[in-house]
Amino acid sequence: MKRTLSPPEAPTTGRTRFPVPFFDQSDTFRELWPDIRDNCLRVMDRGKFSHGAMVAEFERALARWTGARHVVGVNSGTDALVLLLRAAGLRPGEEVIVPAYTFVATASAVVLAGGVPVFADIEERGYGIDPRSVDAVATPRTRMVMPVHLFDRLADMEGVQEVARRRGLTVLEDSAEAIGMRLRGVHAGLLGAGGVLSFFPAKTLGAIGDAGALLTDDALLAETARALRHHGRSGRTLDDFPGIANPTVVPGCNSKMDDIQAAVLLAKLTRLDAGIARRAELSARYDSRLRGVSGIRAVPGDTAPHPGGGRVVYVHLVEAEERDGLVDHLAAAGIGTETYYPVPLHLQPCFAHLGHVPGDFPRAEAACEAAVALPLHPDLTDAQVDRVCDEIEDFYAGRRA
Ligand SMILES: *Cc1c(COP(=O)(O)O)cnc(C)c1O
Repeated sequence: MKRTLSPPEAPTTGRTRFPVPFFDQSDTFRELWPDIRDNCLRVMDRGKFSHGAMVAEFERALARWTGARHVVGVNSGTDALVLLLRAAGLRPGEEVIVPAYTFVATASAVVLAGGVPVFADIEERGYGIDPRSVDAVATPRTRMVMPVHLFDRLADMEGVQEVARRRGLTVLEDSAEAIGMRLRGVHAGLLGAGGVLSFFPAKTLGAIGDAGALLTDDALLAETARALRHHGRSGRTLDDFPGIANPTVVPGCNSKMDDIQAAVLLAKLTRLDAGIARRAELSARYDSRLRGVSGIRAVPGDTAPHPGGGRVVYVHLVEAEERDGLVDHLAAAGIGTETYYPVPLHLQPCFAHLGHVPGDFPRAEAACEAAVALPLHPDLTDAQVDRVCDEIEDFYAGRRA
């Protein structure tokens, strides 16, 4: 594999202070460029840049890869969530239970779809929604629950499904991060009524801009989502409005996927399995270096996935003492990190009207204080992982000295 843009390998003795960006896919792009270019040229030749044949081709390929009966390509993971909630029948004012620890779009989408987010805490170990907390916060107005699969493993879907069955809730999944994650062979997003994927560039399958998809096995839900992404237009005529072709059946959005994004994603899908395997190797290398380093409280490999679920590492997240100091130290050394997630959603200004105070969801709050994501992507080299680990060791050694 040619790695012309990668930093030099570190020598075995001495310390080379080469930078390690949080995310970089220039090698992947260089390797896949002939395929990407061919696909893009096909889009140019057809001259249909939105909602065209390339989107349909990518949807079919992704359906095969995930096993989903229906894939609806859209312009972002966030819009996929809004369309999913609307297509699943959320009505104004109904409540949807979401974890307090997740990307903000999980809860914003509920509001944008006309619903009310209700927060629940996360599990003791791992970062998924706690089924007991779901049970505790549900009210007679609760209609749905939307677990999120964060970082490297599925939420406790069997636990959530048990509560949902008992309380008559529809289960949707924010599986934006979860491409490749499966429970007993069933892909994330297909464990309830439907789910989403995000193809934001840094995600496990990333576009060259924004893109997303909705996954479901439910034909009616998929048909509604297809209408919603395209101004609410339906492909069939209505009996009551026989003269109107492609009638607008619902006030919709413009959430269509671009064909150029589909062209890139179709090419990158062929490397997805290899990329996931490389992520696993790199993550295991971090774990073996960082497990036991004083100051590192938890590494991903310490927490087993729920029974029946595998691990696909999108984000390599560790829990660190003096997290902010560590982040500053790494930044000064040219190493990129991300804080996922800096503030629990119940304490974000946009949800202040829900009336929560610090202490309401202690596990979500603790995760926000200690969690830091280290660079992890298939183009990362072993030497770069070692360099990050060396700097982490130095940071904590310096604290003790
Ligand atoms: C990335 C992400 C989203 C949003 O996806 P976009 O494509 O960036 O809109 C939603 N939820 C979670 C958990 C995510 O990680």
